[in-house]
Amino acid sequence: MDYYEILGVSRTATKTEIKKAYRRLAMKYHPDKNPGDKEAEEKFKLINEAYQVLSDDEKRAIYDRYGKEGLEGRGYKTDFNFNDIFDMFSEIFGGGFKEHSYNMPYDIDKAYEVNLEFEEAAYGVSKEIEIEYYSLCPKCKGTGAEKTKTCPSCKGRGSIIIGNGFMRISQTCPQCEGRGFITEKICSECKGKGFIVKKEKIHIDIPAGVDSGMRMRIAGKGNEYPQGRGDLYLIFNVKPSKIFKRKGNNLIVDVPLFFTSAILGDKIKIPTLSGEKEIEIKPNTKDKTKIIFKGEGLPDPNTGFKGDLIAIINIVYPKKLTPEQKELLEKLHESFTGEIKEHKSFLEEAIEKVKGWFKK
Ligand SMILES: [Zn+2]
Ligand SMILES: [Zn+2]
Repeated sequence: MDYYEILGVSRTATKTEIKKAYRRLAMKYHPDKNPGDKEAEEKFKLINEAYQVLSDDEKRAIYDRYGKEGLEGRGYKTDFNFNDIFDMFSEIFGGGFKEHSYNMPYDIDKAYEVNLEFEEAAYGVSKEIEIEYYSLCPKCKGTGAEKTKTCPSCKGRGSIIIGNGFMRISQTCPQCEGRGFITEKICSECKGKGFIVKKEKIHIDIPAGVDSGMRMRIAGKGNEYPQGRGDLYLIFNVKPSKIFKRKGNNLIVDVPLFFTSAILGDKIKIPTLSGEKEIEIKPNTKDKTKIIFKGEGLPDPNTGFKGDLIAIINIVYPKKLTPEQKELLEKLHESFTGEIKEHKSFLEEAIEKVKGWFKK
């Protein structure tokens, strides 16, 4: 089904309109409001999926052009589990839902920044990293209590009904914060927090072509909750290279070319990701000339599709001239008297013309 139809908005809807529609529908179909209603649950999932895509400019643009398959083909996730959904939901509604759905004092997903050298990102790399994550306290099983009793306010349900008539809404019980029980004796192991910090070494295989800001999901390596562990998100930070400038999957290499080589033509070698390439410089090559090598750029980490290597000619002039060189250049200059005159008279004509526009 179409994401715009799911949210009931037009294809030209603004971000605010999309957010508004999402808020209204998400409140209506939230599982807390529709306990046991499978249809509402499914609808709630779809609403969140649609919002997740349409609220993000980049994803929306891809969706508009290529549809859901286009997003999946570019490595975007469109199939969400309830952890993700409660994450989105709490982002919009200001928190609480996800934590209360597990009674967790932390996010179950975890982010970890991975710093990479340019060449590691370019060719891909396997690494061992040490992460820290929250684990349920083994002594109290995450409750933070060695001894508990049923919450007297909500009788163990974790929620209370407030308001009256039309405005009745279910709210997390303030006394037990939704847990349904209260602590009688604090756990000595975790000092009542319910969790401890654990370290783990994990092996990660980073595909070739990742760039700064890209994320990679490692399932089941996030923080622990009673039903398992959340996901770990690696966020890459790639150091720039002195040799190659990066533009998406294209690489740009600056090629200094001496002015005489540019005029007379030459053969030069340039660096590429697979070593070197020889370029034949034609006589009279202009500054900023681009020479493109198809498929010699970086691979897209999701599709493997390779970008191009773009060599840009940068004509350089002598820093200093010896008296002999100066003499030679002056001779050369004189030999071009005719051509130089031609250019000068072209400019003089232009000046006369412009003066004629405003002189009376
Ligand atoms: Zn404990
Ligand atoms: Zn309670």
